[in-house]
Amino acid sequence: MIIALDGPAAAGKGTLARRLAAAFNLAHLDTGSLYRAVGRRVIREGHDPADAKYSIAVASDLLPVDIADPELRTEQTARASSIVAAIPGVRANLLEWQRNFARHPPAGARGAILDGRDIGTVVCPDADVKLFLTASLAARAERRFEELRAKGGDPIRHAVLDEMASRDRRDSERDTAPLKPALDAFVLDTSDLDADAVFAAVVAHVEYRTGARRA
Ligand code: C5P
Repeated sequence: MIIALDGPAAAGKGTLARRLAAAFNLAHLDTGSLYRAVGRRVIREGHDPADAKYSIAVASDLLPVDIADPELRTEQTARASSIVAAIPGVRANLLEWQRNFARHPPAGARGAILDGRDIGTVVCPDADVKLFLTASLAARAERRFEELRAKGGDPIRHAVLDEMASRDRRDSERDTAPLKPALDAFVLDTSDLDADAVFAAVVAHVEYRTGARRA
């Protein structure tokens, strides 16, 4: 079973993907971490994420240590990741790796769930279930603001919202694999839903579409 889960930043994809993986015994790949690893390493090595040649070279030589970088979740890395993600050669280098994970999940798993921006449209167009989680910009920015505060930071509310709006724009307006729901995706707006309500709605949909039962 392959589940494709797409949507903008802070729509609730990460939490949902982990819960679905446990419920249906699926291996989970957070594909954003691959783009973050490329963006982070380009910056760490003193280059500009908009430098296509350098970013493509990094994407073709991504190492496990890059994905384990402690700075992967910072706002600076998020920004850099969405810049390298607009470079077609970077995407091409990460594509086969993602498809391979979907086709050959680790032993013991019944399948895979991949979350990102283009899973249902490009990476796994034949996925058994396609989900698209979204939420208003205001709701997503508020979640990210609270998340940064909980980590001990001192974020500025409007800066968090502005940064998220520019990332949405870069992700939706790029020419290659832009963020958008697949035509056959189940679209859920999570602005007014908590994580439990989202999970319950999606489990019902997955069971209906696939005939599988959650563990
Ligand atoms: O999901 P996350 O916020 O970690 O993703 C970071 C960035 O990576 C996104 O803003 C997007 O530019 C890029 N990305 C992508 N395609 C994916 C996953 C992430 O372009 N499948």
